[in-house]
Amino acid sequence: MKITAIKPWLVKVPKTYWGEYFFVEVNTDEGITGWGEITTTTLVANRAVAGIVKELNASLVGEDPTQIERLWHKTFRSFTYMGSRGASTHVISGIDIALWDIRGKMLGQPIYDLLGGKVRDDVSLYTHPDQSNFNSDEGIEKEVRAISDSGHTAMKFDPFPHIGEQSQANAGYLSGKMPAEGERIAAEMTAKIREYAGPEMELLIDAHGRFDVPTAIRLCNSLEDAGQIDWFEEPVPVESYHALSQVRDKVNVAISVGERLHTRWDFVPIFENKLADYVMPDVTWTGGITELKKIATMAEAYYIPVSPHDASGPINVVAGAHVMMTTPNFYRVETSNQDLSSYNAFIEEPLDNSGGTLKLNGKPGLGIDINMDYFHANAVEGFGG
Ligand SMILES: [Mg+2]
Repeated sequence: MKITAIKPWLVKVPKTYWGEYFFVEVNTDEGITGWGEITTTTLVANRAVAGIVKELNASLVGEDPTQIERLWHKTFRSFTYMGSRGASTHVISGIDIALWDIRGKMLGQPIYDLLGGKVRDDVSLYTHPDQSNFNSDEGIEKEVRAISDSGHTAMKFDPFPHIGEQSQANAGYLSGKMPAEGERIAAEMTAKIREYAGPEMELLIDAHGRFDVPTAIRLCNSLEDAGQIDWFEEPVPVESYHALSQVRDKVNVAISVGERLHTRWDFVPIFENKLADYVMPDVTWTGGITELKKIATMAEAYYIPVSPHDASGPINVVAGAHVMMTTPNFYRVETSNQDLSSYNAFIEEPLDNSGGTLKLNGKPGLGIDINMDYFHANAVEGFGG
């Protein structure tokens, strides 16, 4: 079997933060097609990375798609002098997921069976409220109740108001400060959510890497007091492991990091310096299914649970879940909402997240059939396969 084409697809997503999802299609000369996802956090990054995917045709067409490990290394090393982690690992992730999909379809097996077999029957999830409804106490209560009623037992939110310098939300950083007013608003929101959610819901806070060291320490401790929080995610920007270490020395709450760490090598200092209680690599950014499995196994040696960051399209969620089906040291997979019906236009069979766990369907590969009519009708011009 040979690879015949690698195609980027940017498909418009109505009414979401992302604007478009970014998928990768890999065709073969035996008629089996594999699908992967990348979906970066900005349209500009999507377009740039899609250009790289197109260029990789020259080096990957004609290759044997079953040699997943070798093709991972071949692609990774082709970026070695520009910096091997970041855009390159996003591209590798999308292709790697598609190659595992092809391999599973060839063998008639779900991907989790190719990774050592399942250690659980379904995959626990955590999810997000729709914070655009957080403009009143009633809105907050309604969102929290919807999550609780859906059977989810953990939820994540960003309580920090987008004011002043922090108006840039999760892609912004300048001085890393939060005004006192913002700190008060965050503590009040967290206390309210704890009240509505009850004592047993796990509350995860996402700081989106927006704070300097003293601000992160202060916010972490004030939210612990306000809402008995269960993790504090990305307290400081990702570039400094030393900053993370300083925060860690002065807080009690569990720390989670990893959505902006790429490949096993970025996680080595996290494990060796005891910088996190949870790691949260993203299967579509860190290096695909191949890499997520390796990172999960490294984490297992340190007894650190893995909780894949999975907040964009349906392939992201399902690819992360396949690896976690085989991972003993697992916490939860992230989903963007308790209601995943917005994925239904993209895929032929809806995902089953009833009761707050994802049930994979056991079909070959990822177990996903793409709705090609929808893809063709909603592709961004110039990026439609
Ligand atoms: Mg995050």
